[in-house]
Parts: sequence; C-alpha cells; structure tokens
Amino acid sequence: MPMLDAAPERAGESAEQSQDTRSPVTGEPCVLLKLGELVLKGKNREVFERRLQNNIRAAVKGLGIKIQVWQREGVIVVRTESGELADVDAVARRMTDVMGIVWVHRAWRVAKDPEAAVQASLDLVAQHPALLRKGAFAIRARRRDKRFSMTSSELNILVGTKVQERYDLPVNLKRPDITVFIEVDQREVFVFTDGMPGAGGLPVGMSGRALVLMSGGIDSPVAAYRMMRRGLRVDFLHFSGMPFTGPESIYKAYALVRELDKYQGGSRLFVVPFGKAQQQIKSSGADRLQIVAQRRLMLKTAEVVAHNLGGAALITGDSLGQVSSQTLQNITALDDAVELPIMRPLIGMDKIEIMAEARGIHTLAISELPDEDCCTVLTPRRAETRAKIDDLRQIEKRLDAGEMAEQLATTLQEHRPSYGDSGA
Ligand code: ATP
Ligand code: MG
Repeated sequence: MPMLDAAPERAGESAEQSQDTRSPVTGEPCVLLKLGELVLKGKNREVFERRLQNNIRAAVKGLGIKIQVWQREGVIVVRTESGELADVDAVARRMTDVMGIVWVHRAWRVAKDPEAAVQASLDLVAQHPALLRKGAFAIRARRRDKRFSMTSSELNILVGTKVQERYDLPVNLKRPDITVFIEVDQREVFVFTDGMPGAGGLPVGMSGRALVLMSGGIDSPVAAYRMMRRGLRVDFLHFSGMPFTGPESIYKAYALVRELDKYQGGSRLFVVPFGKAQQQIKSSGADRLQIVAQRRLMLKTAEVVAHNLGGAALITGDSLGQVSSQTLQNITALDDAVELPIMRPLIGMDKIEIMAEARGIHTLAISELPDEDCCTVLTPRRAETRAKIDDLRQIEKRLDAGEMAEQLATTLQEHRPSYGDSGA
C-alpha cells in the first residue's frame, strides 16, 4: 500500500491511545473543508484561499492545538500535530465559525489506492450508530483526480460490495441511513460519513474594514454578523447614555462583541458617553426631531472614528419601518448626515427573521437583557416620522454638530472583548 506523505502509521496508534471510545480507522483523522463562493476565479480565488488559511490558523490559536493547513484543489485539509481524535473534533467544531467554509467534515485521510478506501469505509460503517439496526447505506465516491485507476462508479461498486458482504446491509441510494463519502484527491483519498454546515460567505478581511454602530439591541449584532460574513473585518462603536444612564448597555455591548469575536478575532469595541450630547440636542429645541438628530450625530461621530481606524463604511441594524426613526424619509435623512456609505444588511428583514438569526448566533439572549438604552432617555412623546433634512441641518448649525462629533470621537474608551476569554 503506498504511503501517505505524512506519518500515517502514527495516526492509527495515537487514535488508539486517546481516550476516545471510537475504534480507529485505518488512516489519519483530519478536517476536510469545502469552500464557498465557487464563482471566484483566478486572482480572487487566490486571495480568498490565502485569507481563509490565515483565518483558520488564527481561529485555532485559542484552542492550543497545533495544526497544519494544506490547500488542495477546491478544498482545505487541516491536520493536527497530535492526530488525537479529540483534537480533530475540537478543530472541526471551531471551523464551523470561520467565514468562507461551506462544509466541515471530519474525514480520514488514507493512501491513494482502492484497497485503502475500502478499509476506511468498512471501519467507518463499523462505528456508525445505524449499523446495529441494520440501516440502509450508500457509497458516494467522487474524483478530484481523474487519473485515478478507477472511475467513481467502479469505486462505488467495489466499496459497496465489500460493505454489503461484511455487514449484510441493504443499499438505498435515495434515503440512506449511512452514507460513506469517498473523495479521491491529487495525493490522497478522503473518506467520511458526516459533515457540519459551515458559516459560508467570504473570509473575514477579504472585503476590507468597516465600523458597526452597535447598540445593546437585537438588530445591530445580526447586522455585524451578516457583514463579517461578506468578508468585512469590523470594529464596533457603542454610544452609552452615560452619565445619565448606568453602564448596563456597555456591559451588553461588550458581551455581544465577545460573542461575535468568534467569527473574526481581535475585535475592538469603542464606547462613547453620549448623554451630554443628547442633552445638548434637547436644549437646542430638537423636539420631535430628537431621535433622528441623535442618530445623525452618532453617524457623524462614527464617520470620524471610522476615518481614524481606516474603516470605509458604516454598518447599522436598521430595518425599514421597524421603529419610527426607520421610515424611508428618516433613513434618507440619516444618509444625508455623512459621506461614508451606510450599509444596512437588515433593511428588508422582518423582526421575526432577525430574531431567529440572533438566536442562531447566540446574541439574542444577551440583547434581551434589560438595560437603559441611550435613545430611550430624552425621547419625545411623539417622534417625527418624516424628518426634513433642512430642519435637521438648522439644529446642527446651532449646535455646531461637526465640532461635537470631532469632540465626541476623542472621548472613546477602547475595549478588547475576546471570544477566547468567554470560557468558550
Ligand atoms: P437595535 O436592535 O440594533 O438597537 P433598533 O431596532 O432598536 O436596533 P434603533 O434603536 O432605531 O433600532 O437603532 C437603529 C440602529 O442604530 C441600530 O441597529 C444601531 O446600528 C444604531 N444604534 C442605535 N442606538 C445605538 C447606540 N446606542 N450605539 C450605537 N449604535 C446605535
Ligand atoms: Mg435600539
């Protein structure tokens, strides 16, 4: 049997040595990653793959597991130095949070010959829970190296026959209980039975950098997640009502960013005490325009901050019509406040959809904790739903809002909420 290019004989040994109760499979356990955005070609594809490899290494750092990352054609292989199943499992789970990966498989890397594929397949069926109840099985072989000595259907038949002989299981190609995937690659063969869906999207950082306006609410964390998933690395900016509110909203923003940090690492949260500015807006007689005027000042401040951080866009959790500040006319008035583009990935989503997504990324429970949102203090009884840009500019002229934004941007407090610190 031809040898793999890296210590395959050790892998079986260490799998046996580990505490894992699964019986070893002939080969080496590894994580096989299927990549997204298959439309990317040429240079873009290279940038995608290089960025993804770096992000994979960064994501695994916190686990304290030494890995090797190998780029194959259209897939990435992650090996652990230890070859322990528990390490491979931990790396596989971590990979489901790395943007740009569509499927995560815990696979066995075996030598590139049909016999090795047969053996690994038999081993995998042997440890499958559906074996005991005589579940139906299917073999799905495919080749990324077409020069392999057998076609995919020949492999299917060969392995299928052996599995049937050994375990006397029925074949069901439509709805199998056990599916064995066999993928013939350039240097090796991968065999696996299961997979976890990946996060999809583009590797974080591939699309540049932007600044998220992060309240303690439900929407802005989802907006941040969506844009990270499109390849943006994001910084976070939170406006607290301090000194007129307590610090609760800051704790929430901190906890939210720590949760979102698992998708990018190295996250920064900047906090601006906004209470006095809100008071000034109120004193200027903003009245029904108070909320939109506040939001414009937040955006202006964010623009200054983004400029200092090298951010090329602002991101908010606005959803059309959800609250009174989010009518079409008010959103138009918000766009007018800054030159930077404002990205609103939730603009066409229902609250129910947004909440479901927030639950999925584990931010919902944090967002639902009570706090005193800076926007709810000093809120007028009736808020304007059709803010006129000229009126807002008048207010801002009286206040010298440009100067206020510059000043507020100097009062930032920086935090580094890290997913690694959350005990995860
Ligand atoms: P969220 O659930 O994100 O708070 P919301 O439905 O409560 O959104 P608004 O309070 O009008 O709606 O806020 C709309 C957007 O404005 C937020 O998604 C966020 O991007 C930004 N924003 C609002 N308040 C703050 C804040 N205190 N600090 C930073 N950004 C804020
Ligand atoms: Mg809010």
